[in-house]
Amino acid sequence: MGGMCATARLTAAGQRVLLVEKSAHLGGRCSSRERDGCTVTTGAIMIPMAKHSAIREAFDLLDAPMDMIELTGRMRYRLSHGDYDQATSGGGLRGLIAFAFRDDEAGAQQLFDDFIGALKDIPGDSHTFRDWLDEHTRNEDVKKLFQGFCAALMGTNTHEIPAGEFFRFLAYSSRGSRFGMAVNGNAGMMESLAGKIEERGSRILRQTNCREIIVENGAATGVSVMSRELGEVTYKCETVLSNLGPVRTVALAGGRDAFDDEYLAQLDAWPHEAPIFHVSFLTDQPLIDGFDGCMVFGNTKNFIYLEIPSFISPGHAPPGKYLHTAFGAPSDAANADLKAELENTCREIEENFPGKLDAAKFLVRARHSGSGPGMHRWAGHMMPVTTPISNLFNVGDGATPPGTIGTEGAASSAREAVKLIVSSTPAGK
Ligand SMILES: Cc1cc2nc3c(=O)[nH]c(=O)nc-3n(C[C@H](O)[C@H](O)[C@H](O)COP(=O)(O)OP(=O)(O)OC[C@H]3O[C@@H](n4cnc5c(N)ncnc54)[C@H](O)[C@@H]3O)c2cc1C
Repeated sequence: MGGMCATARLTAAGQRVLLVEKSAHLGGRCSSRERDGCTVTTGAIMIPMAKHSAIREAFDLLDAPMDMIELTGRMRYRLSHGDYDQATSGGGLRGLIAFAFRDDEAGAQQLFDDFIGALKDIPGDSHTFRDWLDEHTRNEDVKKLFQGFCAALMGTNTHEIPAGEFFRFLAYSSRGSRFGMAVNGNAGMMESLAGKIEERGSRILRQTNCREIIVENGAATGVSVMSRELGEVTYKCETVLSNLGPVRTVALAGGRDAFDDEYLAQLDAWPHEAPIFHVSFLTDQPLIDGFDGCMVFGNTKNFIYLEIPSFISPGHAPPGKYLHTAFGAPSDAANADLKAELENTCREIEENFPGKLDAAKFLVRARHSGSGPGMHRWAGHMMPVTTPISNLFNVGDGATPPGTIGTEGAASSAREAVKLIVSSTPAGK
């Protein structure tokens, strides 16, 4: 998403761009594959699509259709005492808090007022959102609810997100935010953007592995790639944008010796990625009848999210079959037991829908970590898009601007990097 949106924006600004992608497919963790007649995501499923979203802006700049089914407001939350469907007509936050507090109206009102206060006067980042919750309420259900919310929608647990970053995210997403699912899968959406990028004169090389970012006298001057089609090639260029995550960018651009201490200290200060588990399966009957929204779980340790994509867009599964996509997250990303927690995610799906998975056919049971995690860095602990090396930028979910995460964060990093590049480079380079 970061690389594609940066390419789209630079192309629209009149620059000539070469995008190199090691895979045969575009979109990385926001793509899809056909499997057993189903369109299965490689990662993201809830994609921001409002006019002001950084993703939508990049598509609009090249008149590329996103082709989405909107899901805004179609949220359901589960706690051990029941399910809550968020009102589509607004008042979502108040309703969500009231659901957790049940009969304690005064307690709910107090916490809601505290949230509004924190949105107006964003707290500092020196303590976590979990600390903030502990300071403001003793209600354990509301803490579980926001734990599910943070893990599912921000990819980071409440005890990992700085308090300020949680409220910046809430503020960013409450500004007319809309989201949806790609009608033809994420791969279709990304191919639509790729077509427009190539029509406008930039180039996309697939199955081309970037092996080195060439740095001369403190400035990035090109890349060395191995292409299935062309063999080993070196390209000279004015600017390099890396979508590999900040740690791998350093490795490809000459290693740690090429970067200054201040940058490396920031990189090392909070080195954690946010792993995620993806489980997709096919059934003859849906786990929830007629449910065409997004469900977040606050009654579990690892299982956080469920969607039934074939209810939302029937072409995503063969007729009469139901494709389900579930996500799980480690309860402590810095000390995760990925194997055991993926197993527990599957167990918790069954506990939430007893007997309904007996005949399920599992298409994906994946642990996303390492080079393709849920996010390269925790929300609130991102690197800047700029690096100490001139003309070398990071884009993607290791360098997202404050208040943004996931696909929107990756696209926003592209918006930020391209703004800096365009303001200092003449068109046509
Ligand atoms: C299971 C899962 C569920 C998620 N759900 C959501 C969601 O619902 N909503 C949301 O907004 N976000 C979600 N996310 C997060 C979101 O998918 C990512 O934050 C976002 O897609 C990351 O984009 P990126 O630009 O950082 O790059 P990536 O998607 O990592 O893309 C990097 C690209 O670079 C290519 N590449 C890597 N190395 C090289 C090399 N040496 N040479 C050439 N090419 C190379 C890769 O093949 C890839 O295509 C989810 C993630 C996962 C894993």
